[in-house]
Amino acid sequence: MMIVIMQAEATTREKSAVIARAEDFGFKVHLSDGKERTIIGIIGDDRVINREQIERMPGVERVVPILKPFKLASREFKGEDTVFPLGDHTIGGKEVLVMAGPCSVESRTQIIETAIACKEAGAHVLRGGAFKPRTSPYAFQGMGEEGLKYLAEAREITGMPIVTEVMEPALVPLVCEYADILQVGARNMQNYALLHAVGESQYPVLLKRGMSSLIEEWLMCAEYILSHGNTRVMLCERGIRTFETYTRNTFDINAIPVAKHLSHLPVVADPSHATGKWEYVAGAAKAAVAAGADGLILEVHPRPEEAMSDGAQSLKPEKFAKLVVEMRAIAQAVGRDIMP
Ligand code: PEP
Ligand code: MN
Repeated sequence: MMIVIMQAEATTREKSAVIARAEDFGFKVHLSDGKERTIIGIIGDDRVINREQIERMPGVERVVPILKPFKLASREFKGEDTVFPLGDHTIGGKEVLVMAGPCSVESRTQIIETAIACKEAGAHVLRGGAFKPRTSPYAFQGMGEEGLKYLAEAREITGMPIVTEVMEPALVPLVCEYADILQVGARNMQNYALLHAVGESQYPVLLKRGMSSLIEEWLMCAEYILSHGNTRVMLCERGIRTFETYTRNTFDINAIPVAKHLSHLPVVADPSHATGKWEYVAGAAKAAVAAGADGLILEVHPRPEEAMSDGAQSLKPEKFAKLVVEMRAIAQAVGRDIMP
């Protein structure tokens, strides 16, 4: 793959000519129309493209090969941060977005009660699993479509967009009927058929990092989604496996500045799964904001002791409300903000 950097004053006609030439060669073209200038990504076998031919076209400033294995996800392809709206807010810009809700949708009243409490505490997006990837086949597997209906009802009441997990390609159309953001879970990060399907959906995607994945592997999975023309991808660090067993996972705080450096995509942190214990969630969440996370996803349950999944790591609404206030102060200290 190579990128064609157009001159700042390049005309629409000159840009179209470059795109047409690349397509004539049989290449896939990805356009990044930035504020400063346009970058045209040309994907295909580098040996076939005649770099000089393109370099000589009018309006072209230079043509550079992208050496990193991830291309569309890289800062080389797009220097500016990717920013897009989610409901009344945006992710990737100045705002730090807060997503909150229970691990699983357990009943109509549970999700509505939690959604209202999260909204009052300052959340912008509602989370809740309807299809749950459980380690044990005997554990609660989620409410399925009924759960999606309750999530949609909670959205009606609170106005918050919904993020929920989709576990298989065949279920993408159904989840899209109800959800605003598709979550790809850690266990499914490298499910390529699923990445293809969520890519094609053109819905915003929250891509969780696999629990034993390298940062590069994670970015390659984002690349799969981007390669289907879906530009609204969020990377989510949710903790990785290490030798430590006191916490459920080890929160890889490094992954936040590293991913922000390598990629233009928004980075979200999930301190709930990263720590596994509610006592440590606030500390890890505040660290994530300080480290430059563009969003947080937090598990909140009105009665964690009754939760059907992940009760141990779920915050009560009062604790969550206090955490939002603290995170806002940190966000402001690093030139960001958490909007009310
Ligand atoms: C979840 O968000 O509830 C979940 C299952 O997360 P992960 O895929 O990160 O384990
Ligand atoms: Mn969970």
